[in-house]
Amino acid sequence: MLVKKISKKKLKQLVKDDKLIIDCQKHNKNKIINSINNLLKFDKQVQFINCHDQELIMLAEVINLQDIKKRYEYIYDVVCDYLDEQFQKNNYCQFVNDVCVSGQYRNSQYKEFGCCYIYPRQNWMAKLAKKFMKNQGVLLLDVTSPTICPHLSGKDCRIKALSCKLFTCRYLQKKGVSFAIDDFWLLKKFFNKRQKTILQYSFYHDKEKVINQLLKYT
Ligand code: SF4
Ligand code: SF4
Repeated sequence: MLVKKISKKKLKQLVKDDKLIIDCQKHNKNKIINSINNLLKFDKQVQFINCHDQELIMLAEVINLQDIKKRYEYIYDVVCDYLDEQFQKNNYCQFVNDVCVSGQYRNSQYKEFGCCYIYPRQNWMAKLAKKFMKNQGVLLLDVTSPTICPHLSGKDCRIKALSCKLFTCRYLQKKGVSFAIDDFWLLKKFFNKRQKTILQYSFYHDKEKVINQLLKYT
């Protein structure tokens, strides 16, 4: 039979000196990642030995951060840094004179500064979506006319907004560039459904606010 997780019974046997010591040569990476819930329930510091995998080293750091807020902040930063690196390295948005690749094809007065605009919600579908978002705990920002995001400073964003970093426009999506919460195993494994909705849709909101919102739904 294929064992997908390390069982609680097995984990109990791995506790030494009040630490969970897991030999990465004896348990494969997927098994360890799939065991996150069991590892957390154990409420012990985790130490991986014979481990050369950066993701597993990171996993041990996350589990060993027993303060939930610090744990969330760590994961938030890791994913933000990864996305920043991807956008920079691949130059997805291809800005030329402050106009991104999508803006170059867009017939709109709002061509500059990419997608850093806030648009008013007008029709009944948008209102319904707004109600749903509020019920899910998503942080919203409302405006009465299209507005450049207040966090934009020159060409840079002043805050660390994970939802914005995850966003790609339809133009990029058609080119195959899109990011979902479950693409990141740290987000997939450490957050519940409602928290994932908050992470995906709380555009224009800074890390501190988003983390505090996540903590309400742990
Ligand atoms: S995601 Fe799309 S609209 Fe936003 S800056 Fe990049 S290319 Fe432009
Ligand atoms: S919060 Fe930052 S990334 Fe998001 S729309 Fe505003 S300036 Fe752009």
